[in-house]
Formats: sequence, structure tokens, C-alpha cells
Amino acid sequence: MKKWSIKIKIIFWYTLFFALLIIFDFYFLQSTTTRVLTEQASNTVRDATIEVADMVKVEDDGIYLEEDDDEERFNYYHDGVLFLVYKNNTVSFGTIPNQFDGSSEIRLNQVQSLETNGGYWLVYDIQIEDGYILRGIYDMNSVMNSIRQVIRVAGILSPIIVLIAGIGGYIIIKRSFKPIQEIYQTAAMIKDEEDYSKRISSSDSKDEVYALADMVNQMLDQVEESINREKQFSSNVSHELRTPLTVVQAQTEYLLKKADSTKQKAEIETIIHQISYMENIVNQLLEITRTKQLSDNDMESVDLYELVHYTLDSFVDKMNEKKITYHIEKPEFSTNIFCNQTMMIRVFSNLIANAIKYNKESGKIEIKFVLEKQNIIVFVSDNGSGISKEHLTKIFDAFYRVDEARTQNDSSLGLGLALVKEVVRIHGGDVDVESTLTIGTTFKVVLPQYTSEKKV
Ligand code: ADP
Repeated sequence: MKKWSIKIKIIFWYTLFFALLIIFDFYFLQSTTTRVLTEQASNTVRDATIEVADMVKVEDDGIYLEEDDDEERFNYYHDGVLFLVYKNNTVSFGTIPNQFDGSSEIRLNQVQSLETNGGYWLVYDIQIEDGYILRGIYDMNSVMNSIRQVIRVAGILSPIIVLIAGIGGYIIIKRSFKPIQEIYQTAAMIKDEEDYSKRISSSDSKDEVYALADMVNQMLDQVEESINREKQFSSNVSHELRTPLTVVQAQTEYLLKKADSTKQKAEIETIIHQISYMENIVNQLLEITRTKQLSDNDMESVDLYELVHYTLDSFVDKMNEKKITYHIEKPEFSTNIFCNQTMMIRVFSNLIANAIKYNKESGKIEIKFVLEKQNIIVFVSDNGSGISKEHLTKIFDAFYRVDEARTQNDSSLGLGLALVKEVVRIHGGDVDVESTLTIGTTFKVVLPQYTSEKKV
């Protein structure tokens, strides 16, 4: 039950409680009605028998009723009660009703209930003159049938009422919880796609849950605004730094030509090296910013296998330098994706460049394509240095380098994988890594397959 949603818990308890309430009501109604009607019938049979016993007169040719001065023949039926007159325990006047056992035991001055041959009767016996006994009989069958009828109707209606209450409750609760579900889905989408433009859809309802959804939307507006401001800021900074950096580089190169001592030259060369390092950073930051601004107009249908193959070919010389061998497997399925070709080449250039840079001499690079649920997965594996667990989660962060001291002097900026992640994310995909130290690393890039009917 712990795993049930709040919706199901509320519906379950509410329907169970309602069902128990109806069962209790049902039982109470049945027992009270039976008791009250039986009591009423007992009074009727007793009163009617006592009343008739006072007036009844037995003659040789029959029974008569004495009313005031009149004398009329007793009709054996009075006030819903049927009468029999017994002499020596056998019926001597009156007609025994159907199903009734006329020979049942006589018990004077008390109401007896008799169940005979499937019939149900209330009986009252009184001694009248000359050893005759007057027996009043009240037929309870019709009473019991009415009660049974009520129970049957209630028995059919109750489950229907419980069902209607359950379904009605479910619909109301489902509607009330819809914004919560949406809050969850929106938060999940923002987490997965890092798309802060997503919002919870609004509704005409003005209840508490919608007020919460509205508040979350307002919060998201603020978050999106500050993220956009931050993006704009880094884009502006990169742009603004570019021109002065170019000027400084040109001027320094000019100074280098003019420098006459070797010491001066060496110092200026260090400055030039640092300037080109800074230029690299600015260019890559601009590239990441540009990726964030990509729209559908910058995308086209591209064969991913061809793109990766072409990128790999451009690294043949570098691989040969390290005697690295490679293998790329041509897949059987369509590897079309909808992407910005230049950016996608940057993704695989970065991954292949890393697979070479962090590989050993005579190492191997393997590229494999797999199709899973309309997603193309590209595995880029190497058998190089590998990455330890503590670094694995951080390598996609901007400026993160595992071996900062070692990579400081080469072109490593720690921005390559940050760009890979951003480009793949913009294309609706995901990138992941698995690695074992000294054994090797595998990058897994997931991208939606593109078919002409759908644009991903
Ligand atoms: P860099 O410019 O330093 O290569 P990246 O963002 O491309 O920056 O990579 C970040 C860090 O992840 C690198 O410094 C490196 O330590 C590690 N890394 C990336 N790819 C591999 C790989 N194939 N094998 C081992 N380490 C890798």
C-alpha cells in the first residue's frame, strides 16, 4: 500500500468507508424494520383476538358475534387476522389457511411465531366458553416478502451507489491532482532536457492546487530569465574579449619581430602562447553559446554514419602518429538524424580527438551503432588510460580536466565534453560515459532517429 499513489489511497479509503457505511445502514434498516413490523403484527394479532374473544358466542350451528344487541354470524376474519375455533385441540370452525399447520401446539394468552411449510405466522390463543379455544392467525408472509423486496432493491442499488461514488470521487480527485502530475512531468522534462521554457498548462479552475501550479510557473519564469541573462552575459563577455585579444595578439607578434635579444623573444613568445590559449577559450565559449541558440532552421537531415566516418577519416594522420588502429561498423538500419551538421561534426571530433589523446601507443578505437526504441546509439570506445570513478561524473562540466597539471601545456581546455553534452542535448539526445582506469573508455551518444514523417 506504501507504493500506492495518493489518488488511489484516497479513493480506496473513501470507497471502503462508504461501502461499510452502506452495509451497516443496510443491516440496521433490515433488523429495525423486521423488529418494528413483527412487534406491530404481534400487537395486532393479540388485540384483535382479545377483542373478538369478548364478542364471540358458540352455538350448535356455528359461531356468532355479539355486537351490542345485534347478533351476526362470525366471519372468521377481522382486522387482518384470521380466526379458527378449536375444540379438543382440533379445528371445529373456520378454514385452515394454506401452508398453516392446524395441529400446532396451543399456548394460551401468548403470541407464538410459527414457521410451517415455508409459511410464517404469528398466532394468539384464547380460551372461550365451553372449552373452546379461539386462535387468531396473522400472516407474516406478506410482511416478510415486503422486507425481502426492500432488501433486494437496496442490495442492487447499494453497489451501484458505491460505484458511482467511487467513480465520481476518482474523476474529481484525478482532475484536482492533474496539475500536480503536470508539475512533476514539467520538472522531470526540465531536469532531462534542461529546457527552462517548459510550463505547466493553465486552467480555468481556481483551486489551491492550481494556485500552486501558477506559483511554480512564476518561479520558472524567474529561473528562465536569470538563465537567459547568464547566457547573454557569457555571450557578451566572449564577444567583447575577442576584439581586444586579436589586437593584443597582432601587437605582440609585431613586438616579437622587433625584439632583439633572445630573452625578450622568449618572454614575448610566452605571452603569445597565453593569448592563443585565451583565444581558444573565448572561441569555444562562443561555440557553446551559439549551440544554445540553434533553431530548427539551422538543422537538416544527415546520415550519422557517414558523418562519423568522415570525421574519423580526418583523424587518420593523428592516429597513424600513435599507431592507433580503428574499426567502424556500418549498421543495417537507417542512421538519419535531424541535426546541425557542423555542430554534430564537432561532437564526434571531440570524442575521437579525446580517444586518440588519452589512448596509448598502438591502441584501438572502435565505433559501433545500435538502434534502440527509435534512438540511434553511437558507442565510441578506446583502450586508453580510462577515467577513475571520482572524475567520471564531472568530466562534462566546463573547464574540468582530470589531470590539470599534465594537460595545462597542451590545447586542453576542459570545454570539449561540455560542448558535446550541450550539442547532443539541443538535438534531443543524451550522452553518457563508462570507463575503467587503465582499461579504456566508452562514450555513448544517444540521438533520435529521423524519419521523413517526424521531425525530432
Ligand atoms: P579536454 O580539452 O581536457 O580534453 P574534455 O572536456 O574533452 O576536455 O575532457 C575533459 C576531461 O575528461 C579530460 O581532461 C580527460 O581527462 C577526460 N577524458 C575525456 N575523454 C577521455 C578519454 N577518451 N579517455 C580518458 N579520459 C578522457
